[in-house]
Amino acid sequence: MGNIEAIFGSMVFSDKVMRSLLPHDTYEKLQKTIQEGRDLDRSVADVVANAMKDWAISKGATHFTHWFQPLTDVTAEKHDAFLTPTGPCGIVMEFSGKELIRGEPDASSFPSGGLRATFEARGYTAWDPTSYAFIKDNTLCIPTAFCSYTGSVLDKKTPLLRSVEALNRETLRILRLFGHTDVRRVYATVGPEQEYFLIDRAAYERRPDLKYTGRTLFGARPAKGQEMDDQYFGALKTRISAYMRELDEELWKLGVFARTEHNEAAPAQHELAPVFTNVNVATDHNQLTMEMMKKVAVKHGLVCLLHEKPFAGVNGSGKHNNWSISTDTGANLLEPGKSPAENMQFLLFLAAVMRAVDEHQDLLRISAASAGNDHRLGASEAPPAIVSMFLGDELTAVVEAITHKESYQAEKSYLETGLGVLPRIRRDTTDRNRTSPFAFTGNKFEFRMLGSSHSIADANTVLNTAVADALRAFADELEQADDFPLRLGKLIRREFRAHQRILFNGNNYAPEWVEEAEKRGLCNYRSSVDAIGHLTDAKNVELFARHGVFTGEELASRREIMYENYAKIIHIEALTMLDMVRREILPAVVAYTGRLLETALRKREMGLTCAYETKLTEKLSALTDSIADTAERLDAAVIHAQECAENEEKARYHHDVIFSAMQEMRAVCDETELLVAKDVWPYPSYGEMLFSVM
Ligand code: ADP
Ligand code: MG
Repeated sequence: MGNIEAIFGSMVFSDKVMRSLLPHDTYEKLQKTIQEGRDLDRSVADVVANAMKDWAISKGATHFTHWFQPLTDVTAEKHDAFLTPTGPCGIVMEFSGKELIRGEPDASSFPSGGLRATFEARGYTAWDPTSYAFIKDNTLCIPTAFCSYTGSVLDKKTPLLRSVEALNRETLRILRLFGHTDVRRVYATVGPEQEYFLIDRAAYERRPDLKYTGRTLFGARPAKGQEMDDQYFGALKTRISAYMRELDEELWKLGVFARTEHNEAAPAQHELAPVFTNVNVATDHNQLTMEMMKKVAVKHGLVCLLHEKPFAGVNGSGKHNNWSISTDTGANLLEPGKSPAENMQFLLFLAAVMRAVDEHQDLLRISAASAGNDHRLGASEAPPAIVSMFLGDELTAVVEAITHKESYQAEKSYLETGLGVLPRIRRDTTDRNRTSPFAFTGNKFEFRMLGSSHSIADANTVLNTAVADALRAFADELEQADDFPLRLGKLIRREFRAHQRILFNGNNYAPEWVEEAEKRGLCNYRSSVDAIGHLTDAKNVELFARHGVFTGEELASRREIMYENYAKIIHIEALTMLDMVRREILPAVVAYTGRLLETALRKREMGLTCAYETKLTEKLSALTDSIADTAERLDAAVIHAQECAENEEKARYHHDVIFSAMQEMRAVCDETELLVAKDVWPYPSYGEMLFSVM
């Protein structure tokens, strides 16, 4: 641990660094700006910028960048040198407050979903002082929000920050009702657990599908038992632990408190869990984590795959978004309390989350929608596409008891006699249902639908806003109450009753659940294409507008971008597939069939039998034709897709026609792979990829 202390946060312009480097009054003013979310005064910004620059240069930085999160799930940066020319040959290292607070990247190629016409390509980045600046690759990275000239949001950070404000505002109203006047700020806390695959770089280099699409488009399943090769396992495990050690250290330098660990779920699959922090920083850190995972892998001769389903038939990768609400006084509002009053407050927050998840199931589902995640959701290894909530036995019993209580009087006594003391909620019982997409895990909720490559910003924007909305309705009602405890009890019971359908403790992978969920009226959007359009349903536009998170126009632009991305991803996969089939798979199979034929002919000349060769030749000929036919159909579909005028129509066509043709293509090719000689097949097998590194 001594090691951690020495390097942890060494590359971060943290609060501690600011306090030591900034003049006292500048530090105080900056703190005030951060806490109250106001614009930064230019004179303060100049002082901060200068200190930041000197600190960065002392750590070896030569450049600075506004680091932002456009609508692509990854981060973007535009590097500028600190150098400012002074006269013909001199340069000084400069960085002004203006450069710190505002940037103007030429951002015309980032997706805007029609919000920013190409002639008005300017986008602005604005410093987010609530997330610390840091140094990466000799560059001072300044976390920023990104918006258009007219102020429309073009990134994932801005709406997230707005949702944090909404949650803060509404939660404070509730806390006042419970007499917590000392609390000044409330924020969502998040700890995202990140899954990933590591494979050998040499194998990766020979797979165009992995290189262009992040997943294998072909590949017959490996024979079972290969993983039992203990020696292999032992020798290569060293390599993984070396990787993990370096990854941890790189992340610690950036202030990300990571704890990497081995994951047993699939061969070559691993998981990293950071210590939770406020959602804004957690989102930035998760982006950094994904970036570092890839970078560090290269140094170890490995490749880190963050795709949701790199290998068919093997567990995919997700991200578990652990979420709770905390106060600046250190209270976790989802921690069941010890006294009846604390418990009533906990139950009220529980009711808010239930209402939020029930009313906005669709938004949660959409926040996890992408072409990559379609391979997981609804398959029997990941959460289903249906959103439901798991509370564990004890808490479910409490909710049921309250739901079924008949008289108002009962609630009053529930409070007064102390009957409201909750049973101790044991962690191990709340963590038991691994199939639930939204599970209470003792003092937080774990949303498990996100894909491994997703930014966690969207899901948390939805969660914060939806919960804020429920709390707002509760506060509106409770602030009017003459008899607060009575009204509170009534409200909690009413809400539990109204949203009971969202609770499900059973097996979410069971086919019966699909039927049951339908009876309960829960939504089941099987594919991304089914889900995306609901982003702009009236209820959702109203929700986000009510809390100032998105305008209807911004939501519509996001919907278009999601459709576009979906179609683009399938398009690239289809082209990659066609290329692999035509230029490598078919030629390989034809050549191998030729070899067989030649052998058969020679054998026949010599009067030998050649039944095996003949039969295999027949089989392979049929498969060759089938591959070629499917390729032609797929090709025609790809061309036809270009005629779709609307993004939605295009996305749907890619899902219904192109993706299905790709599945057929894969099936025949995988069948063929198992029939031809290993040395002939142009690509490393699943076995080679999955068990090359462990
Ligand atoms: P484990 O599952 O290994 O027992 P935990 O349940 O403590 O670990 O945590 C799993 C993840 O949830 C970690 O990333 C952790 O930081 C996060 N987490 C724990 N408490 C909270 C909280 N109050 N809010 C948000 N995330 C949390
Ligand atoms: Mg988990």
